[in-house]
Amino acid sequence: MSSLEADPEVGHPDATTTPAGVEVLDGAPVALGGPRGLAVTRTLPSKHRRMVGAWCFLDAYGPHALNGSPGMRIGPHPHIGLQTVSWLVAGEILHRDSLGSRQLIRPGRLNLMTAGRGISHSEETPAEHSGVLHGVQLWVALPGTDRDVAPAFAHHARLPVLADGGLTATVLMGELAGAVSPARCYTPLLGAELTLAAGRRATVPLRPDFEYAVLVIDGAGTVADVPVGPGPLLYLGAGRTELRLTAGPETRMMLLGGEPFAERIVMWWNFVGRDHDEIVAARQAWEERAGGGRFGTVRGYDGPDIPAPPMPITRLVARGRTR
Ligand code: MN
Repeated sequence: MSSLEADPEVGHPDATTTPAGVEVLDGAPVALGGPRGLAVTRTLPSKHRRMVGAWCFLDAYGPHALNGSPGMRIGPHPHIGLQTVSWLVAGEILHRDSLGSRQLIRPGRLNLMTAGRGISHSEETPAEHSGVLHGVQLWVALPGTDRDVAPAFAHHARLPVLADGGLTATVLMGELAGAVSPARCYTPLLGAELTLAAGRRATVPLRPDFEYAVLVIDGAGTVADVPVGPGPLLYLGAGRTELRLTAGPETRMMLLGGEPFAERIVMWWNFVGRDHDEIVAARQAWEERAGGGRFGTVRGYDGPDIPAPPMPITRLVARGRTR
């Protein structure tokens, strides 16, 4: 998926903090691909909190009934300095990239693309589909030591699943309660999908050196005693050793965590960099690609590439994980 606006941090409402010290970060509605595009809710980056660990971008969408609409249509666009994490609850997405990858993703499987020094890709609802679309798209910022790695794509059809009482946890990235994802991480990180059966409660072990956040995708319940449903991102901070969860109806959520990201970054369009000039160079390489170069070519997508927006008049400034 793509940030189609130049500035991914779009019109966020204010955050509120609960008495339990949990920040409730309301999402901003964004239409990917213009007013008729796919409706998503963006909770990262927000004005007040740009990152959770190295997680720096979070869009949630659906459940959408496609009803004859084309669904997702994100034409070829470039990335640098990040990994994209695609995760579905329902539906299908077809990924293509400039390495020649062509991969259909289904619920419970992970598409992980490492942009490193440069890659381009497209994502679309395939011609044959189940008629629904429901999922999340995340980005992970690469640390300075690894942000120029060679681009790579991996599809993980088998991920570790923990089941305990009414709780089922699928580990996408990192490690949870001894279950380790095979996906390649470049910083200490956790990404897991948790499903809690109706009326049940559970406790999930956390690392006090990680900061965490939870996004409810389906259902409603409590997270660290804060009542929550789909929509906002609950930022839990660091220093916790466990997380208490309860479910009303069956409740599905994403648990994100990681070591607080110490580096300041520039996020502009689909790029994660460290300074203005680096972003300018990446933008120029995309605009002047003429069928190759740093970002290669995506083959087989039936539509135009996405042009880069104009650069702002002022210079981009690297910013930290909080405001
Ligand atoms: Mn993308």
